Amino acid sequence: MALVSSTSMLEAARAGGFCVGAFNVHTLEMLQAVVEAAEETNSPLILQSTVGTVKHLGPDYIAAAATVAANRSSVPIALHLDHCTDFNVIMQCIRAGYTSVMIDASHDPFDQNVALTRKVVEAANAVGINVEAELGRVGGVEDDIVVDERDALLADPDECARFVELTGVHTLAPAIGTAHGIYKGEPNIDFDRIGRIAEKVAVPLVLHGGSGIPEAQVKRAVSLGMAKMNVATELRIVFSDAIKDVFAANPAENDPRKYMVPAKDALRAAAIEKMRLCGAIGRAKDCRP
Ligand SMILES: [Zn+2]
Repeated sequence: MALVSSTSMLEAARAGGFCVGAFNVHTLEMLQAVVEAAEETNSPLILQSTVGTVKHLGPDYIAAAATVAANRSSVPIALHLDHCTDFNVIMQCIRAGYTSVMIDASHDPFDQNVALTRKVVEAANAVGINVEAELGRVGGVEDDIVVDERDALLADPDECARFVELTGVHTLAPAIGTAHGIYKGEPNIDFDRIGRIAEKVAVPLVLHGGSGIPEAQVKRAVSLGMAKMNVATELRIVFSDAIKDVFAANPAENDPRKYMVPAKDALRAAAIEKMRLCGAIGRAKDCRP
């Protein structure tokens, strides 16, 4: 099947009480590994690339590889642009064939965030693809931050409702205490806030910073309305560590067709584990448009 917009997939996830894994990939082998994970387990899949990866590989190369994967696959696959602040890059990705984009104007004042998100939503609606936006600030939230400061960084439920209404955005990433990268201790997730946002906002919610969130916390967040979980750092580490192991055991190895194989295997297994945490296994059938 062709690449699908992530909107219907994520609406099905929110309604069905599960979550779709959205995995950042940086090479063809990484893309293939997470696609294989989805196929093996009949899970819906969102392939993601950051702006850095778009600049590294080119949006057309990424979209072409994702399109081939989707065309060969029976599970629904969307291709998403993660955390983009630049309208022009968003347009380049849409033109290349992305079926989902994130406009991240969360560092701008509320009104500017609304205006830019709305502009992206109008463009995306013309071609039937998904837009995700962010409110509050994900990342940089330290565990020892004082409560008032922490509160100011997290998304306000009333503001979330107003934001969705004003922008028509299809998916919302509210800052609720997760952070990007690997957590030092357990993440300090504000579950009460997720619940209050989900009460006021009907669109699917996105959990950023999904590397290393313990199983019980993922399940609780999903039960409250999180329909997409982004995982980047953890998968990149698993993939790279497997390559390092090959070279540690055999420093003379020089064939990418050999040293990439254990990396693909390790990444596929890690992606399946995340799909299990998300409750996405066997849910491909619920996510077909
Ligand atoms: Zn993020």
